Amino acid sequence: MPAPILELQDVHKHYHMGSVVVEALRGVSLTLQPGEYLSIMGPSGCGKSTLLNVLGCLDRPTAGRYLLGDQDVSRLDDDALSTIRGTRLGFVFQSYNLIPQLTVVENIEVPLFYQGCPEELSRTRARQMAERVGLGHRLDHRPYELSGGQQQRVAIARALVNDPLVILADEPTGNLDSVSGREVLDLFDELHAQGRTLILVTHDPTVAERADRILRLRDGRVEKDERRRPPPSTHIHTSAP
Ligand code: ADP
Ligand code: MG
Repeated sequence: MPAPILELQDVHKHYHMGSVVVEALRGVSLTLQPGEYLSIMGPSGCGKSTLLNVLGCLDRPTAGRYLLGDQDVSRLDDDALSTIRGTRLGFVFQSYNLIPQLTVVENIEVPLFYQGCPEELSRTRARQMAERVGLGHRLDHRPYELSGGQQQRVAIARALVNDPLVILADEPTGNLDSVSGREVLDLFDELHAQGRTLILVTHDPTVAERADRILRLRDGRVEKDERRRPPPSTHIHTSAP
C-alpha cells in the first residue's frame, strides 16, 4: 500500500456564534490513498462544506491533525495555507468561479500566474489543459460565450493546470442540466482512470455513486465510510496528463 495522499486524524471544527459554539465537525478521521475517488454525502448542515474547507486548506481544524502529502498543514498560517492551495490543490465549485473578463486560456492560467510560472510555459500548459477537457477550439472565448457545462470544464482544466495532489469539487454538477452534468462526471471518471485523486461533495446519490468510496456524514461525524471498489494500486498518477 502506498503512503496516504492525505490523512485527517480526529478533526474537530467549532464555530463561535456569539456565546453559542457550533460543532460542525466532531472527530472526523479519514485516510485517502493516491488515486482514490471519494464522494462526501449527507444531509444539509451535517458538515460537508466544513470538511471540504478543511481538506482544501481554506480553513484550519479547531483540533486534530491534517496531513497532506508529507506535510502537517493543521496549524499553518494563512499565507502558508494559501501557498498550499495554489500549488498542491485544485478546486472546482458549483458556480465555476471563472473570471468573466478573461478568456478560456487566461482563466486556466490563473493558478500558474500566482505561482510565477514563465508566461510562455504557462500559455502552453493552459492550452494543453483546454484540449484535455475538449475546449481546444474555444481558447479565446470568454465565459459568457460558453454553456454551463463548458464553463465547468474550463474550471476543471484550471484545477488540473498546477498538477495538484488532490482535486476538490463542491457540488460540481449542481448548476448543470443532466446532459452537461453527465459530461462533467464522465470527465472526472477519465481523470480518475488516469490516476488522479478526487474528492467530490454532493447531496445527489447518483453523483456520489460514480465514486469508488462514499463517506456519509451526520451531525459532524462519519456515519459510514463505504468502499465500493478496492483502492487503485496499479495506475498511480505520477505526472501531468
Ligand atoms: P453542509 O455543507 O453539510 O450543509 P456545513 O458544513 O455548511 O454543512 O455546516 C455544518 C454546521 O456548521 C451547520 O450547523 C452550520 O450552520 C454550521 N456552520 C457552517 N459554517 C459556519 C460559520 N462560518 N459560522 C457558524 N456556523 C457555521
Ligand atoms: Mg454545504
